[in-house]
Amino acid sequence: MLPYFLRRLLLVGLLLAGPCLSVRAIPVSDPVPLQKASPYAQYSRQLREKGLHETPGGRAWLRAGANALLDSVTVPVPFKETGHYAAKQATAQSYRFRLPAGGRVLISVLGKTKGAAPCFADVFELSGGDPGPVAYLGAGKSQLKLPAEAGKTYLLRLQPKLGYAGNYTVSITQLPAFTFPVKGKDARAIGSYWGVSRDGGKRKHEGIDIFARRGTPVVSATDGVVSNVGKTRLGGKVVWVINKNLQAVYYAHLDKQLVKTGQLVKAGQVLGTVGNTGNAKTTPAHLHFGVYRGWGGAVNPLPYVKKAVKPAPAVVVALQRLGTRGRIIAKKAVLRVSPSAKSPARREMPAATVLTLTAGTGSWYRAQLPDGTAGYVQAPLIEPLTRSLRSTTVKSSQALLAEPQPEATAIARLKAGTTVKVLGRFDAFLLVQNPAGQKGWMVRPENQYLSAAE
Ligand SMILES: [Zn+2]
Repeated sequence: MLPYFLRRLLLVGLLLAGPCLSVRAIPVSDPVPLQKASPYAQYSRQLREKGLHETPGGRAWLRAGANALLDSVTVPVPFKETGHYAAKQATAQSYRFRLPAGGRVLISVLGKTKGAAPCFADVFELSGGDPGPVAYLGAGKSQLKLPAEAGKTYLLRLQPKLGYAGNYTVSITQLPAFTFPVKGKDARAIGSYWGVSRDGGKRKHEGIDIFARRGTPVVSATDGVVSNVGKTRLGGKVVWVINKNLQAVYYAHLDKQLVKTGQLVKAGQVLGTVGNTGNAKTTPAHLHFGVYRGWGGAVNPLPYVKKAVKPAPAVVVALQRLGTRGRIIAKKAVLRVSPSAKSPARREMPAATVLTLTAGTGSWYRAQLPDGTAGYVQAPLIEPLTRSLRSTTVKSSQALLAEPQPEATAIARLKAGTTVKVLGRFDAFLLVQNPAGQKGWMVRPENQYLSAAE
C-alpha cells in the first residue's frame, strides 16, 4: 500500500509543481487573515498615535503584553478558567498548550457583553525562536477556531483594553481536525478500530471501519486535492485525498467513486458511496478510513474524526475572591506551572505568603506573587486576609511601602514603637496594617519568624 501511495504522492507533487497550482494554494476552511493588523496591533498603534505610550498606564499596558509572551503557565486541553480584570492594573495573561494528534482548537472568551470577548486574544506558535503569531480573535467576536498542528506548542495571550474591569471566562476545547467521512454518521458507527489484527495476525488494521448502508455518501474529511481514484485488491474502489499538511487520507471499499484525480475538494464534499469492494466482499458495507502522515506511514485516524468526550473541569473556586489578595495557610505550599499536583513547581511558598488571586480553574487558583511570578495553587491552601495573624512592634522608624521592595512608593511613615497588625509576608517583607488602617509593606524584623499558627 505505502510504496504505491508514495508513487502517487510523487506524481501529485509533480502535478502540483505546475505554474498556477501549488500545495500551499489549496484553500483552507478557516483562513487566518494575518495580513490584516490584529485588533491588538491596531489598539497598540492607536495608543502610540495618541501619545499614551509615554504615560505610566500606557507603558504598563504595552509592557504587560510583551511580558505575557515571555512567561506563561501551561494548561491542559480541554481547559476552562474564569478570571478577573481590575481597572487600575494593566494585566495580560498567557497560556501555553499543546495539542495531541488529530486535534484542532476552539478558543472562546466570554465576558459581560454577549457575543464579544472582553479582551484581545492572540495566538502564537512556540516552536523554536520567538513566538510567531498564527491567529487572533476578530473584533466583536468571542470564538476562534485554530487550525493547529499536532505536537506543536501554542501560546494564547489575553489582554483587555486599558482600564477594563470585570470577569472573563476562557475555554480551550479540542475538536476533531477532520469532518466525519460518512454522511449522517458519527463515531458510534465505527465497528473496527486501529491496530486490530488482520489476515490471521499477518498485518494490523491501519485504519478504522465505519459501517453504513450501501450507497451512503462518503464525504471528504478535509480540504485537499484528489491524488488517486483507483482499484486495488485489498481496498477495492479507493480514493486518496492529500491535504495542505501533506496528510494522505484514504477511503476504501467504495461502491461508487464520484471524483477525478487532480480535483480540488472541500471538507464535506462527496467523494463516493459506501460499499464492500476489495477484500470486504464478504462483510457488510463499510468505509475503511485511513490517514497517512507525510512519509511516516499510517497513523490512528480515530482522534481526527471523534470528538473528545472529556469536558474541561468546571470552575469551582470562589469567584468573589478573584482580584483580591490571600495568604498561604499551609506550612509550605507550591506555586505550580500547571493546575495539576504533578506539574513542576515554580516556587515554594512558606506559610503566610501573600498572593493576588487572578483566576480560577477547577479547584485551583491562578495567583500572582508580589514580584509578578504567576502560577497555580490549590484553592484550600489559601485564605483571605480578613483577620490579622498577630501584632508586632516597629523597632526602627521606616516607611510603609506600597510594594514589598525597598524602592517602592511610601504610603505612610511607621515610627519606632508603633504596633502594627501582621497580615502576611513576602521575602524580607511583612504585609501590615498601621493604626490608621492603612495596609502596606515593612521590612521584616530580623530573627522574627512568622507562621500562621502564631
Ligand atoms: Zn478497514
